[in-house]
Amino acid sequence: MGWAIALHGGAGDIPLSLPPERRQPREAALRHCLQVGVDSLKAQKSPLDVVELVVRELENNPHFNAGRGSVLTTEGTIEMEACIMDGKTKKCGAVSGLTTVVNAISLARVVMEKTPHIYLAFDGAEKFAREQGLETVESSHFITPENIERLKHAKEANRVQIDYTQPVEKETPTVDGDSQIGTVGCVAVDNDGNLAAATSTGGLVNKMVGRIGDTPIIGAGTYANNLCAVSATGKGEAIIRGTVARDVAALMEFKGLSLKEAAAYVVEECVPRGNAGLVAVSAKGELTMAFNTTGMFRAAATEDGYTEIAIWP
Ligand code: ASP
Repeated sequence: MGWAIALHGGAGDIPLSLPPERRQPREAALRHCLQVGVDSLKAQKSPLDVVELVVRELENNPHFNAGRGSVLTTEGTIEMEACIMDGKTKKCGAVSGLTTVVNAISLARVVMEKTPHIYLAFDGAEKFAREQGLETVESSHFITPENIERLKHAKEANRVQIDYTQPVEKETPTVDGDSQIGTVGCVAVDNDGNLAAATSTGGLVNKMVGRIGDTPIIGAGTYANNLCAVSATGKGEAIIRGTVARDVAALMEFKGLSLKEAAAYVVEECVPRGNAGLVAVSAKGELTMAFNTTGMFRAAATEDGYTEIAIWP
């Protein structure tokens, strides 16, 4: 058994024709963030520290839909959310509705460690971030020209389904062959089988103000226990309905499935095609990256020398 790490930069309808100027910066960022994670695991950092660190790097990169680079609500504002979970203790922290916090994932960690609660949102979460001395900036810092363009495009195309009671089957609006997706996440396991998962996002482009997706919901977008750690991406409403992250763990726990079998089952059977992807590692050092979308920005490495950076199957 050795350490393993996997990260994602979002799953969705990513066309093979994705222009190099949109592909290369993301691949470079995935490579860089993977290296940050690998170096940290080699330096014996805890998986919890590793996933937080890697997700912070991804949040700071404007090419992903988290932190700087978050997609915009229907009112052109940003509402970021994130979640972190420790496998052994099942301690977890989640935040939603952030408008000024530079690293949502670190606020989730502080919620986990310094409050008796699990989930803080909107004004209360912002106030707590300030009290705790987390870095905050003007909201405009997070808004990139690409995301202003994406919102405009989504509105013009008027193709976003806002019927949240129905499965989201339609395609996500795309801009120049690029979609709104790009949520980030990381899972890691160390040599002792300690596991952690972290996910961070700006949500869905043109989302209603106040909408909360799967990312911060324990068991939907993010989950870790003593068997595995999972971070999901895709259409939040479908992922919440499918209890994606927890179901991977449940199939291992109650049915004895391997990590790969459990993840494949959940992605194929529990979420409509085209809606979700996930990265996961197990306490035994296994790793899987499964998706039922066209592609998923992803990267992974294990102690025995395996490394992968990929977008399409
Ligand atoms: N799952 C995220 C959400 O629905 C979006 C994504 O993964 O890209 O908020």
